[in-house]
Amino acid sequence: MSLDQGLLAGELATLRQGGLYRRLRVQETMAGPRAVVDGTGCLMLASNGYLGLACHPEVQAGAREALERWGAGTGGSRLTTGNFRLHSELEEELADFKGEEAALVFGSGYMANLGVLQALAGPEDLVISDALNHASIIDGCRLSRAQTAVYRHADPAHLAEVLEAGAPARRVGPGRRVFIATDGVFSMDGDIAPLPDIVRLADQHGAGIILDDAHATGVLGPGGTGTAAHFGLKGRIDVQVGTFSKALGSQGAFVAGSRILIDYLRNRARSFIFSTAPPPAAVGAALAAVRLLRDNPHWVVQLREKAEHLRRGLTGLGFAVAGGETPIIPVLVGDAAGAVQLAEGLLARGVYAPAIRPPSVPPGESRLRVTVMLSHTTEDLDLALEAFGRAGRSAGVIA
Ligand code: PLP
Repeated sequence: MSLDQGLLAGELATLRQGGLYRRLRVQETMAGPRAVVDGTGCLMLASNGYLGLACHPEVQAGAREALERWGAGTGGSRLTTGNFRLHSELEEELADFKGEEAALVFGSGYMANLGVLQALAGPEDLVISDALNHASIIDGCRLSRAQTAVYRHADPAHLAEVLEAGAPARRVGPGRRVFIATDGVFSMDGDIAPLPDIVRLADQHGAGIILDDAHATGVLGPGGTGTAAHFGLKGRIDVQVGTFSKALGSQGAFVAGSRILIDYLRNRARSFIFSTAPPPAAVGAALAAVRLLRDNPHWVVQLREKAEHLRRGLTGLGFAVAGGETPIIPVLVGDAAGAVQLAEGLLARGVYAPAIRPPSVPPGESRLRVTVMLSHTTEDLDLALEAFGRAGRSAGVIA
């Protein structure tokens, strides 16, 4: 064994000193609005399960029935022995939900972004990426070995500049392609990508668009169909990624787009080809969740109203709150230690909203990432506001 343990321990000590050390908290409860975290009962105010579907009886039944009918695992990649009718059924449902020709299911959102970027972009190509895109897009760019350029977060003027700068290089090789990659809803900031500007610029420059709707699926647009629908831009996006792991309450992801795109990804996306097909329980849960969402489009409106209630309350208390229109409400603190102090004060008062620190956000932008679930009651949210007031004053974050 030649791994230098002392070196690792030294780096961990540095993380501890900088307030950046991470440890796992253990939950005793399912992913609902109330939780027991490290033995403490609390209101969960940090989950990505915006619609509370992980605990919905029909989603659980979908998982259970799939488990009983199809077993615990798939025994192979989709391209070998792991492609059950259930997977195809989910893909048909997703294509219909998104209003696209076809869809392809992946094991996770991380794998979907990796697969899309690696399959579509190569060393000849240019990927232009929003500065706050999720790590899986960044890692997908690395894996693709494409040239990568970053534009300032949600800044169409800067995107235009970067596109202009990329244009001459585009002429070097006849096959060079340019892609713009963006989250639909930004996970740590809760804001929405300026998609109308992105579409206009992409059209002007002949660029393709890769849209990661991990946090927009079930949240934005009519019936939660996503960012493109939110802006009336259905049919204008080349590649749309969505996850089952956030609002839809289970695990896995999908890409929706043209039949040719999906066929291409099936043949070229390594994270699809070289990984075991998602397990029946996850696929069954996702299928039930998409069907439920289609039957209950009003959930999306109710979720927005609840988020607005909490957002207004936090602003009223004097917190600096970012984002808007989504259930992700970042409460900005600044330094990592202050964010941790506020999070601990909240936990002591029965509210779980952990601090988000570098490297998840840039240094000096530590925050609490507060999220609302449809299953929160108004009383839950008012209780949270009371705890925020007390913990915020005690941590010196508000006056
Ligand atoms: N894209 C974004 C914007 C995310 O926030 C996440 C979540 O972590 C992912 C992709 C990855 O999705 P998953 O958790 O399903 O791997």
